[in-house]
Amino acid sequence: MSAIGSLVFCTDCGNLLDGSSGNGKAMLICDVCGASCKDTSSKVVVTRSKPTAFPSSLRAKRSEVQTLTEADMQTDATINQTCEKCGREKVRFYTQQLRSADEGTTVFYICDCGHKWNTNN
Ligand SMILES: [Zn+2]
Ligand SMILES: [Zn+2]
Repeated sequence: MSAIGSLVFCTDCGNLLDGSSGNGKAMLICDVCGASCKDTSSKVVVTRSKPTAFPSSLRAKRSEVQTLTEADMQTDATINQTCEKCGREKVRFYTQQLRSADEGTTVFYICDCGHKWNTNN
């Protein structure tokens, strides 16, 4: 009797292949489709995470992030930064990755008084 971890399935059709020699290099021939499949029974079963495994809402969110424009980056997030023009201690901010990788991420601050500045370090 085989443990579940030692079962080998055809990579082409999913058919359960006949037992294994325990030799990781053996090839097993599928008797349904004839494909030769690597005998993986001696190895730990690898769980591959496919991109398609993500819930569609998550994927939608990811593509949203990828298509963000500069205007979309302007959020209502606030940060405790003092505006040098009016002294307000909370200003809105957003971050933006500049096109050149050398530039790093720049934080843009926008005060309600209209003063704008950014960190570029
Ligand atoms: Zn097969
Ligand atoms: Zn200000």
